[in-house]
Amino acid sequence: MCELVQKYNVPGPRYTSYPTVPYWDLDDFSGKRWKSTVLKTFQENPKEGISLYIHLPFCESMCTFCGCHKRITKRHELEVPYINSVLKEWKLYVDLLGTKPIIKELHLGGGTPTFFAPEHLKLLIEGILIHGKKADDAQFSFEGHPNNTTKAHLQSLFDVGFRRVCFGVQDYNMTVQRAINRIQPFENVKNVTEWAKEIGYTSVGHDIIYGLPFQDCSHVEETIKKTNALRPDRIAFYSYAHVPWLKGNGQRGYQETDLPSSVVKKAQYEMGKKMLTDFGYKDVGMDHFALPTDDLHIALTQGTLHRNFMGYTSSKTQLMIGLGVSSISDSWYGFAQNVKSLEEYEHLVSHGVIPIFKGHILNQEDEIIRRHILNLMCRFETSWEEKETEVVDFASIIENLLEMASDGLVELSKNTISVTEKGRPFVRNISMAFDLKLHRKKPETRIFSMTV
Ligand code: SF4
Repeated sequence: MCELVQKYNVPGPRYTSYPTVPYWDLDDFSGKRWKSTVLKTFQENPKEGISLYIHLPFCESMCTFCGCHKRITKRHELEVPYINSVLKEWKLYVDLLGTKPIIKELHLGGGTPTFFAPEHLKLLIEGILIHGKKADDAQFSFEGHPNNTTKAHLQSLFDVGFRRVCFGVQDYNMTVQRAINRIQPFENVKNVTEWAKEIGYTSVGHDIIYGLPFQDCSHVEETIKKTNALRPDRIAFYSYAHVPWLKGNGQRGYQETDLPSSVVKKAQYEMGKKMLTDFGYKDVGMDHFALPTDDLHIALTQGTLHRNFMGYTSSKTQLMIGLGVSSISDSWYGFAQNVKSLEEYEHLVSHGVIPIFKGHILNQEDEIIRRHILNLMCRFETSWEEKETEVVDFASIIENLLEMASDGLVELSKNTISVTEKGRPFVRNISMAFDLKLHRKKPETRIFSMTV
């Protein structure tokens, strides 16, 4: 395994979209084209409903490992104006759609959603629901910070339909916590997890990261033991993405040499995976584990698992609208990203402009490749029909996979590729074989994190 790790540890995308953001064709994109793809998808799937992602960008302090788009501030007076802007942006989309859409999925991410007061979060959701209908089987979820999530947050959001919450744990070791500037006692995680379960949340998730500065295998082992004691329904167990050259002032609180090597990282992953499966968690897609009763695992067994900018999800809609500063939307035929500056965002929406600044419209080749990458990421297998070979150069893809086949990571047959058990940790590398955009033009600088 060590040799494979050394061989395949290269910079690569996590494929929450295809094409990946650095390969969007910005020249072929316009606000007008974006809106027409949104409308097209909405009209083609009138009963399917839509997904909403709402980005709440404020955090009180900076975690040095963080790759999210956020603004560090203690000025809570920013909450209400920001919510008003998000609701204005939502109304711009509702006006475009011409009717109240059915909301199938809604996720609050950040930043720190629980930076906002419970009553403000409730106002936000009530404002969204004035112009949208909550589906009977809607899945509403949010990211809670264990240090500032209160019972009132959990109760207020439960009252407006939230049943899923995810808490960022990362690692319980104090040296690691100091290095990432996130001191977070076990007691805090225990409290919020127990409160959520008492209130009636049906899926509580914990995020654990390996590959953090000063983290060794014993720290990961201890963190997973403590996590299992709280028995969350879902666990995201993923590798720290070290890309300080992309993250401005973030990811600078430690040296490259403070990070575990790729071999240690792989050992951390293998050990963590074994512990989680021994504890009864099922391996779901890349980096995710869930109890057999959790929706994510049920979606895997029913073949309905999907992946989008929010990561893995059990409810697929073709239209996903991202609201808030820096959010990315997916209309199925295209992608668009909102402006990243808070001031510009508020200015644009107050002038009635959907605040996107870049995007991509998918061509036929993109659509086919996206389907295969989604299949690999969600089902570890994909097959194609003869007619697809008229559009996509499958001969090149097979050629890209030959070495991985001889290393036992994939099995190739005429029109099907299956990822083997041994190949699962390398699913990003395997997906890269399909990424013809990446093969045609390698990035000039490092833009992706390492795959291992
Ligand atoms: S990890 Fe979360 S809380 Fe920490 S800075 Fe990033 S977004 Fe904010």
